[in-house]
Amino acid sequence: NPGRTLQVQAAPFAAGRTLLLVRDVTQLQKLATMRRDFVANVSHELKTPLTVTLGFVETALDALDDTPPQELAHYLKTAADQARRMQQLIDDLLTLSSLETDAPPPLEDPIDVAAMLADICQEIEALSAGRHRITLESGGPKVLLGSARELRSAFANLAVNAVRYTPDGGEIMLRWSAEGEAGGRYSVRDSGIGIAPEHLPRLTERFYRVDRGRSREAGGTGLGLAIVKHVLERHQAVLQIESEPGHGSTFSAVFPPHRIQS
Ligand code: ADP
Repeated sequence: NPGRTLQVQAAPFAAGRTLLLVRDVTQLQKLATMRRDFVANVSHELKTPLTVTLGFVETALDALDDTPPQELAHYLKTAADQARRMQQLIDDLLTLSSLETDAPPPLEDPIDVAAMLADICQEIEALSAGRHRITLESGGPKVLLGSARELRSAFANLAVNAVRYTPDGGEIMLRWSAEGEAGGRYSVRDSGIGIAPEHLPRLTERFYRVDRGRSREAGGTGLGLAIVKHVLERHQAVLQIESEPGHGSTFSAVFPPHRIQS
C-alpha cells in the first residue's frame, strides 16, 4: 500500500507456528511529526523575543552608570515590547489548547451581535488610529446563540487582521447580515494586500503565515486563524475566505439557522 507505514511484529505461536502482527502506524507517525513540528515552532517563536529581551536588559545593566536615561528607557521599552509578545503567544497557545479539549460551548448564551460588533469596531479604530476608513453594518438577526467569549475573540481576530494587513488609507468593513434560510453571516472586508490562492488552504494551520516578517512586525502570533477556525467549528459555522492579491480579502463566518434566535 503506497504512502502507508506498516509495523510488523513476529511472535512465537503454538507448535512451531509464528504469529505475525501487522499494524498500520501511518496516522501515529503523522501525529508524532505534527507534535514535533509544533514544539519546534513554539520554541522558536518564544526564543526570538526572549533573546532580544535578554540582550537589551543586559546591555542596560552593563552600562547603567554612563548611559543617558533616555537611552536606558529605549532599551527597557524594547524589552517590554518583546515580553508582551511572549505573553500574547502564551495566551494564544492556552486559548487554542482549551478550545481543543473543552466540551462544545453551550447553546444558551444569547449574543447581541450589533453591540458586540460596535465594541470590536471601537477596538480596531483605536488600533488603526485613523489610518483606515472603518465602517460597520449590523443588519443581521438580533441574537446569535453560542459562547460570547469565544465568538468575540474570533470576530475580533478577523477584524484585527484586516487592520494589520491593510496599508494606510485602506478601507475595512465589518458586516453582520442575514444568510439564506435564516442563518447569519459575519464578514470582514478589507482593501489590503490580499492573499495568493496557493496560500488559502493552509491559512488556518498553526503558525502558517504568508509573510513571516510582516506578521511579526504587525504583532501577529500566527495562531489567530487557527483559533478562529476552532471557535467556528464548535458553533457549526463555516469560515469562507475570498481574496485577490493587491486588492483585498473578505473573511466570512457563516452560521446555521439553529444558532440564530428569532
Ligand atoms: P498572524 O498572527 O500572523 O496574523 P493569523 O493566523 O491571524 O496569524 O493569520 C495567518 C496569516 O494569514 C497571516 O500571517 C497573513 O499572512 C494572512 N492573513 C490573515 N488575515 C489576512 C488579511 N486580512 N489580509 C491578508 N493576509 C491575511
